[in-house]
Amino acid sequence: MKITLDHLTKKFPNRAKNKPDVIAVNDFTFEMPDGKLVGLLGPSGCGKSTVLNLICGLLKATEGKIFFDEDDVTNIPAEYRGVGIVFQNYALYPHLTVEKNIMFPLENFKGADKMSKEEMRARALEAAKLVQIDQLMDRKPAELSGGQQQRVAIARALVKQPRVLLMDEPLSNLDARLRLQTREEIRRIQRETKITTIFVTHDQEEAMSISDLIVVMKDGVLQQIGKPQQIYDEPCNLFVAKFLGTPPINVFHGRVEGGKLLVGQDEILSVEGVENQDVWCAIRPEAFTLAEDGPMQCALHGVEIMGRDVSVVAGHPALEGVQMRAITPSARKLDDDVENVRFRLDPEKVLLFSKADEKRIPCELK
Ligand code: ADP
Ligand code: MG
Repeated sequence: MKITLDHLTKKFPNRAKNKPDVIAVNDFTFEMPDGKLVGLLGPSGCGKSTVLNLICGLLKATEGKIFFDEDDVTNIPAEYRGVGIVFQNYALYPHLTVEKNIMFPLENFKGADKMSKEEMRARALEAAKLVQIDQLMDRKPAELSGGQQQRVAIARALVKQPRVLLMDEPLSNLDARLRLQTREEIRRIQRETKITTIFVTHDQEEAMSISDLIVVMKDGVLQQIGKPQQIYDEPCNLFVAKFLGTPPINVFHGRVEGGKLLVGQDEILSVEGVENQDVWCAIRPEAFTLAEDGPMQCALHGVEIMGRDVSVVAGHPALEGVQMRAITPSARKLDDDVENVRFRLDPEKVLLFSKADEKRIPCELK
């Protein structure tokens, strides 16, 4: 099922007197395609949970509309929207077995929809098989690991065969390895069921790895929608560029002058299609290659070997922050006592942003 948000806005009254309302979601317009997994990504407090709660009907929109396919569901109560939700804290009933926890949403069906015990058990087993916990049906939540508990929560969300699955930071309470495993599991379940899924996270790597489509938001405002690689390669503004990628993109004070891109004293690339101006020059860590005749000189602070990656930690007078990071395998050979290093740059991994509004400046770099 397709979900359309049409100029959706949610304001909360401010508890402090004489302060303006909190605009948690601001004029959100977006179409989520049928059968896809959409990652809703943004820093804490940017309004991600509010978007989910508006879609499932736990919150009422201040302005705007929500459509499920062509149906306007803006004023339909949550229980009739056919939405399954998984939260960060699994919210299982501690005194019920796994089976009873999964069956619970089915107990509320009334009238013609009312199910027999046998039907409910069959449906619960089906959902449990999907998340591979069908061996654990008789246990209580306290007898399960965090990952298993989260699977029970997912099974419980799926048992009603919802039209939409919403997941609000479902992996945050799991340790690193389990997070990785459960995220692949969610991807598999989504592919198998083809259920339209919205996955909320503040973790860019998680969003990149799991999503068909990423929606980036900041301060209640939608920033960019696109495939993960596309958003990484062509961020629409400096915020999105900085938010995606580990290590993060390196940002420098730059200047375009007479077809040259200058970073401090270094003339690093030639540029076409940009008028002379000060710019933010953002360079991905993987853009750097050590080269004795490279155009960019940096002060070497250290070399860190982290498994497969070797990162050069360095300084540059035009840096926005304190340090920069370059990921380059050639750094294995670097001597620790070298003071300066020179880099050549991959122009595809260098991005320019306006100093005035931080929007991306389209241009040709060579
Ligand atoms: P996220 O899930 O991205 O961390 P939320 O959607 O929870 O963000 O919150 C977005 C903004 O709305 C925050 O500034 C938060 O403090 C505010 N907010 C959320 N719920 C309420 C509420 N019930 N009353 C007042 N402000 C709220
Ligand atoms: Mg949240």
